[in-house]
Amino acid sequence: MEKTLKRPWGDVKRCQAKSRTAGRQCRNPAMKGKRVCRIHGGLSTGPKSKEGLERVRQARIKHGKFTAEERRRQKQISSLLKEAKATIRKIAEMM
Ligand SMILES: [Zn+2]
Repeated sequence: MEKTLKRPWGDVKRCQAKSRTAGRQCRNPAMKGKRVCRIHGGLSTGPKSKEGLERVRQARIKHGKFTAEERRRQKQISSLLKEAKATIRKIAEMM
C-alpha cells in the first residue's frame, strides 16, 4: 500500500523501506518517482550494462525452480504424465 502524508502542498510519498531494528516503515520522504528515500536505495540507478543486469538476475535465483526453463520442463513432464495416464486408462478399458 502506498503511504502518503497530508501536506498543504499536496501528498508526500513516504519511503516504503522497513527498518531492520524497529521493524517499522522508514517514512522519510521518498525520492521523486521512487518508492524509497535516498538512504534506502532511492539514489540507485539500477544496473546500467547488460552484464550488470545479468549479474543481478543470476544473483536473485535461489534454487532455479521458477526459471522459465524449469517451468517449461515441468509443463513437459506434466503433459507426458497426462498422456501416460490416458494411455493406461485406455489399456485398462480394453481388458
Ligand atoms: Zn527510507
